[in-house]
Amino acid sequence: MNRNIAIAIHGGAGTILRSSMTPELQTQYEDGLRSALHTGYSILEAGGSSLDAVAAAVASLEDFPLFNAGKGSVFNNAGNHEMDACIMNGKNLEAGAVCGISNVKNPVLVARVVMEHSGHVLLSGMGAEDYARSMGMAFEQDDYFYTTQRYQQWQNAVAEDRVQLDHSDKKFGTVGAVALDIEGNLAAATSTGGMTNKKYGRIGDSPIPGAGTYANNDTCAISCTGHGELFIRAVVAHDISCLMAYKNLSLTDACDIVVHDKLVKIAGEGGLVAIDKHGNIYMPFNSEGMYRACRNNNGKYEVSIYKD
Ligand code: ASP
Repeated sequence: MNRNIAIAIHGGAGTILRSSMTPELQTQYEDGLRSALHTGYSILEAGGSSLDAVAAAVASLEDFPLFNAGKGSVFNNAGNHEMDACIMNGKNLEAGAVCGISNVKNPVLVARVVMEHSGHVLLSGMGAEDYARSMGMAFEQDDYFYTTQRYQQWQNAVAEDRVQLDHSDKKFGTVGAVALDIEGNLAAATSTGGMTNKKYGRIGDSPIPGAGTYANNDTCAISCTGHGELFIRAVVAHDISCLMAYKNLSLTDACDIVVHDKLVKIAGEGGLVAIDKHGNIYMPFNSEGMYRACRNNNGKYEVSIYKD
């Protein structure tokens, strides 16, 4: 039996510079990451599944208002919040996802219910919300999702008539987690509010298995953050798994090809967190920074934001 356990999480990648961060804000971000990491790692440490660990870690990040997922999600061009999420089980390649949903407290938990009970992989919009309601999932009123920071960010984007990646003006988002449990099972989960002032109905890479989220016990678990359109076109998460499966590359080499070469060539800014079946962790990004944290049972513990 595999005896390694490991977890890695992210809270989004982008133009994250020390010069634009106050010490207080940095502490808040780090606290949010630490708390989610602890939530996920405690489950693994107690012998729990990687699926439970990534779901709990991502739900914790969704509840944290500074990250762009769940509470704190960005505004779309209609002034609403439309959220996407996905979870995938590397043991059997089962996946569940939701996209374009509103007022659901924890989209990642709905994605899991879709995976385990709906007989489908991806539910969208009102259908997904109705299904979540029928399964007794928690909902919140619009004001729960409102944050002054996101409202201001949206107003700025509207004033300048632009669609804005959450990364691009130093306000970042999207959350995700990957984990390996004591049984050797890998899992991945990702959740996002998408892009500020995005067209309503726009779907990013996060809820698409193989693009923003992927897990396969034979190779790796991946959760991405970045410019979703480019991550979809590069099929980022599955590409890394394929490089490992078909070319026998290490996790690091496979990720480097996709993040630092393939994505860069199409101006696909962002990064990802990854764990392979042995418990190796890698958190590469081609942007200025990425909110990230990881822990394993061999003493590795990291909470980082910037490139250096
Ligand atoms: N990938 C997400 C999307 O395009 C955004 C992000 O990672 O911040 O919806």
